[in-house]
Amino acid sequence: MPHHYHYIITGAGCAGSSLLMRMMQEPFFSDKRILIIDQSLKTENDRTWCFWETAPGIFEPIVAHRWQQVDFFSDGFSGTLDLSPYWYKMIRGIDLYRSVRAAASHHPNIEWRNERVISLNADTSVRTESGVFYGDYIFNSILFEKPALPRGKYFLWQHFMGWTIETPGKRFDPSVATFMDFRISQAAGTAFMYVLPVSDHEALVEYALFSPSPLSKEEYEHELRDYIASRLKIDSYTITHTETGMIPMTNMDFRQRQGNILHIGTAGGQVKGSTGYAFQFIQKKTAQLVKALAETGRPFTRVPRGSRRFRYYDSVLLHVLQEKRMQGADIFGSIFRKNPAERVLCFLDNETGIVRDLQIMRSVPPRVFLPAGLAELMKAL
Ligand SMILES: Cc1cc2nc3c(=O)[nH]c(=O)nc-3n(C[C@H](O)[C@H](O)[C@H](O)COP(=O)(O)OP(=O)(O)OC[C@H]3O[C@@H](n4cnc5c(N)ncnc54)[C@H](O)[C@@H]3O)c2cc1C
Repeated sequence: MPHHYHYIITGAGCAGSSLLMRMMQEPFFSDKRILIIDQSLKTENDRTWCFWETAPGIFEPIVAHRWQQVDFFSDGFSGTLDLSPYWYKMIRGIDLYRSVRAAASHHPNIEWRNERVISLNADTSVRTESGVFYGDYIFNSILFEKPALPRGKYFLWQHFMGWTIETPGKRFDPSVATFMDFRISQAAGTAFMYVLPVSDHEALVEYALFSPSPLSKEEYEHELRDYIASRLKIDSYTITHTETGMIPMTNMDFRQRQGNILHIGTAGGQVKGSTGYAFQFIQKKTAQLVKALAETGRPFTRVPRGSRRFRYYDSVLLHVLQEKRMQGADIFGSIFRKNPAERVLCFLDNETGIVRDLQIMRSVPPRVFLPAGLAELMKAL
């Protein structure tokens, strides 16, 4: 059949590129015809990923910086947290795209197309601007449209602007990042700054806000300028890069699969609803897919243990945030004050067991979380 491939990957962002990288590292795929399609050439540094892990992952060679000490600031609790055994790591989008593209250039079985995907079809085909391509399986990371929000579900945007700034003198300690600084206005929703210093004179300073709609460019810029001047006490700097973005924070169900079309990344619901973190969930999912394919020839994987439980926790937190029962700053402040950072990070990775979940739950006020928990339980039944 013309234009037939074993696997077609639509979207070469984080999920598509991660899947391809893992396929290239697994001998099972060396004789498989793989097509990857993206409308963008991915030549821009369009985002910076931060995530935590205890051991090196497949993208370790392109980790731009890592920290094991982070600062946390809120009105109720501030402190420097020791993350061990975790490392908080930063990867620049452009480094990931380039490294995957460079690796793919050594694999003649991989074809890369730079064009817009118009539709995915039930006969496991992909229609693009130039034609129709067939695959045994399609791994799709394109969110064609935001699914309609069902009643009783929550949806917030985590939207942000970040500046990479360079200072003339030494103004940062590159061994300590600021994980969350809530000491800014919370009037528009849960809002915090984070600071990722990569040297003593360069850092990414990012302003993030959870709310139903984005701000104007001027509003983000005002907050960043104000924070750099009043908190970081830096008055002379050059902005060398700006990044903006929006991440869906929701407990709505994303379709995982339609026949032999499997959705991955944001389109597959791999963004954690209550935090917006997705990088490590994408890594886990793509690793599972590649393992299943190599072992069984089919990409179907079991739902990870505990995932319903963690989706429930995400719903409860989104409920509290969206119904404005308690400020995000107070929730995160209380959790970090009463728990070792390692436990919190493990919980946010959906990897704790019931005992440690209960320890986290005991650190937030029952008068706020019990009613929200019961309401979400009733919806789930
Ligand atoms: C600015 C930003 C910063 C983030 N930072 C973090 C972080 O620090 N930590 C974390 O865990 N998560 C973070 N996230 C969340 C998440 O990790 C990213 O959104 C991640 O890129 C999601 O991967 P994805 O593959 O689903 O989507 P994307 O990476 O957006 O990839 C989708 C791809 O599809 C392509 N595409 C779209 N439509 C079409 C079409 N019709 N035809 C062809 N191609 C198409 C796009 O060009 C894109 O390359 C961040 C998100 C953003 C937006």
